[in-house]
Amino acid sequence: MRNEAAYLANPEGSRLIRAITHLVVWLPAAGALAGLGLALTRGVSGYAWVSLLVMYVLTVTGVELGLHRYVSHHAFRAHPVVEFFLVTFGSMAAQGGPLYWASTHRRHHAFSDRPGDPHSPHLSGGGPRGCLTGMLHAHMGWLFQPVHSDWLRYVPDLIKDSRLFTLHRLYFLWIALGVLLPAAVGLIWTQSLYGALEGLLWGGLGRIFLVHHAVWGVNSLCHVFGSRPFATREQSRNLAWMALPSLGGAWHNNHHAFPRTADNRLRWWQFDFCGMVARILERTGLIRDVHYADPESFVAVPSSQKPPVAMEG
Ligand SMILES: [Zn+2]
Ligand SMILES: [Zn+2]
Repeated sequence: MRNEAAYLANPEGSRLIRAITHLVVWLPAAGALAGLGLALTRGVSGYAWVSLLVMYVLTVTGVELGLHRYVSHHAFRAHPVVEFFLVTFGSMAAQGGPLYWASTHRRHHAFSDRPGDPHSPHLSGGGPRGCLTGMLHAHMGWLFQPVHSDWLRYVPDLIKDSRLFTLHRLYFLWIALGVLLPAAVGLIWTQSLYGALEGLLWGGLGRIFLVHHAVWGVNSLCHVFGSRPFATREQSRNLAWMALPSLGGAWHNNHHAFPRTADNRLRWWQFDFCGMVARILERTGLIRDVHYADPESFVAVPSSQKPPVAMEG
């Protein structure tokens, strides 16, 4: 239990955490720039595209279906093998281990767009300046003002899950694997060090950069722009074009209305890749006790109970 206690007491505002935050934010950005530089001077190989696409889909699915719908919201129960892959792929996105991700996210749902929400775009003042500041804060600024989300309060169920805790403690191993695996496959695929470098930059660092902004975009854009078919307490919105890069996470108003659903689709035309994967996994028996939304059960929140917002999308 000593290690667990150390985790529980971790001061997330410590210098080490700040240094790690800078590393996982700026190193992928530098890798993306280097990959772009190589592409402009030497072109892009077929392997580079494949490694980017495969690793992007795996890691966004790991974040959205794994860390978000499964770990944070218990949208379904998963076979240990499915759990392993969802959590490790999600961790390869370098957005925090499963317990950190879930505690921060549950805090977001507890305080959505009110003081206490770690990444609301609506708490930075009014006017164009407040709007822009709020968007930047919700997108990535909040990462540099870490607030400790008490694990005993937000993830007491996950702390007791020894399998998940073990995966959490290996978080940095999963990040390293997510960068080194595409490099190793590139070496084998192209029989050249250049192929390994392309795998490192495109399937590894550049992919983390793109995944960062796709997931962060749900926090920033999907609380400001888009439609609100459900009158929820916060300012969550459905932003159709973001459904593609976020693989379904951008139906964010649907999600806030029905946080436990495994499938955000409530209209036939709403694209939710992660929801489709969940339904396939359910049919194969690899996940069970799957929760789905019942739009008939939704109770609109009176406007008097909604938080004051500085801007309207
Ligand atoms: Zn939200
Ligand atoms: Zn959620």
